[in-house]
Amino acid sequence: MHNAHSIIGFSARHLLSVTDLNRIDIDLLLSLGESYLDLSVQKDSKNSVLAGKTLVNLFFENSTRTEKSFELAARRLGAHVINMSIAQSSTSKGETLLDTAATLNAMSPDLLVIRHGASGAPALLAQKVSCAVINAGDGTHEHPTQALLDALCLQQALAQDGRQLDGIRIAICGDIMHSRVARSNIHLLKQLGCEVRLIGPPTLLPTDADRWGVEVFNDMKTGLEGCDAVMMLRLQIERMGGAFVPSKREYFHFYGLDREKLDYARDGAFVMHPGPMNRGVEISSDIADDPEISLVTKQVEAGVAMRMAILYALSLQGGNT
Ligand code: ASP
Repeated sequence: MHNAHSIIGFSARHLLSVTDLNRIDIDLLLSLGESYLDLSVQKDSKNSVLAGKTLVNLFFENSTRTEKSFELAARRLGAHVINMSIAQSSTSKGETLLDTAATLNAMSPDLLVIRHGASGAPALLAQKVSCAVINAGDGTHEHPTQALLDALCLQQALAQDGRQLDGIRIAICGDIMHSRVARSNIHLLKQLGCEVRLIGPPTLLPTDADRWGVEVFNDMKTGLEGCDAVMMLRLQIERMGGAFVPSKREYFHFYGLDREKLDYARDGAFVMHPGPMNRGVEISSDIADDPEISLVTKQVEAGVAMRMAILYALSLQGGNT
């Protein structure tokens, strides 16, 4: 199906941020991810490119889909997986992380996946261990594998009509301020030639957002005009020090995606959400569950394929591997 030659030119040693990837790396991961998507529908397929390798999933924050997605991706490629979920102590975050890094390094894993509540924690860890480190979400900073899987998923959906990512208009809506998914997606989508819009209430938009090379809107109807895809984000209440919106009901009225608001986007616009969804807050069930427009389930499928691509690409980059 593919071999090491298919990713010659891949330059990243770790995946800490989308900015670690150049355009060649991104294109390689997208095409490898696409081939893994095809492979996952062939039930009896065997692939053991990571046989004998060990992946450690180190999660300091709760996760349902991301942790399982990495686990499944690694197992499908024949790797051993160790899951470590660590309750975060707010008083000794830095200390815990470095102690854990030293312990893990002594065990010589080949790939280390980390999710942490503090922005920059994966980058710190990457300096302390000798294997490839993958950021599975750090604070409000980045979630690079989510952005890559989103790009793969949207690319596949557009290809059904013979379209491509380059030149499309996409709106990222809601709680941009606390969203690592938004930060990674903005950078990646712009690299891929998309026109990116941000829509949200002023309280949930970073004050410097207009310097990110995107157009910023406070009104859903104006912002959604002509959009080919709409990415909805969860209100990240756990990252808010106080109330950023008057009430969830009022939030849905102004910013929740329903049919009426979606009508302002382009006909047939795709709807995405990284999950977990808060139905009736940022998205109505009727939109989330409409298979004609909602890519939510397909995003999960693309997640496993894209993570297989990332693990494989990084496993060829040296270190313990
Ligand atoms: N699952 C995504 C994240 O970890 C989005 C979310 O939690 O709302 O950032």
